[in-house]
Amino acid sequence: MAELKFTNGSTLQLGVMYGIGQNYAKHAREMGSLLPRGEKIMFIKPTACYVPDGGSIVLPDYSEEVHHEVELVVVMGKEAKDVSKEDAWDYIAGFGIGIDATLRDLQRKAKEKGLPWAIAKGFHTSGPISNIVPIEEITRNKNDFEFELKINGESRQKGNSMDMLYSVEELIEFLSHIFTLQPGDVIFTGTPEGVGKLNQGDKLVAELFGFTKLNIDVV
Ligand code: MG
Repeated sequence: MAELKFTNGSTLQLGVMYGIGQNYAKHAREMGSLLPRGEKIMFIKPTACYVPDGGSIVLPDYSEEVHHEVELVVVMGKEAKDVSKEDAWDYIAGFGIGIDATLRDLQRKAKEKGLPWAIAKGFHTSGPISNIVPIEEITRNKNDFEFELKINGESRQKGNSMDMLYSVEELIEFLSHIFTLQPGDVIFTGTPEGVGKLNQGDKLVAELFGFTKLNIDVV
């Protein structure tokens, strides 16, 4: 079973990985769709697609277009069912930075046919996540996380969680109304603009500024 590592040395068994689609307006536009207010896209990535810091994304032989999506990742610390956004912060164990690797060509086909995104979002190694910063160490403004993805030393995506269409608290309210969130479950909170193709040999460094970094290579 996969275990999430925290920066203070503690661990938590990884549970369900929830993903949120199009949570940044500029990324939604680059995908050619902006949902009406109130509508959300969500999907689930299998636990086994998790990759820890220092691991690799393995490009599958059935896709020509594997995209990077750098995202703020929330780790749940308590069981959460019907939790209001006002209380949501109390259910969080910590934050990290992750890559929601996506098979864009297969996702495009799935969208055209109205089919699920399971393969596009859940293939082997599609879920790298950094070591997790415990919630106790996050003392400043709650929703002000700045992050960046560099590939081979070049900046590719920059984001700030202040630009999310739905805040972390709103996402927990939304998800916990439908699913029972468990300790160790994670939420990929959506990617900012600048997604693009990964190539063999790429070196990815994702940074959650002031907190943690994720190093991943592409093979
Ligand atoms: Mg994503």
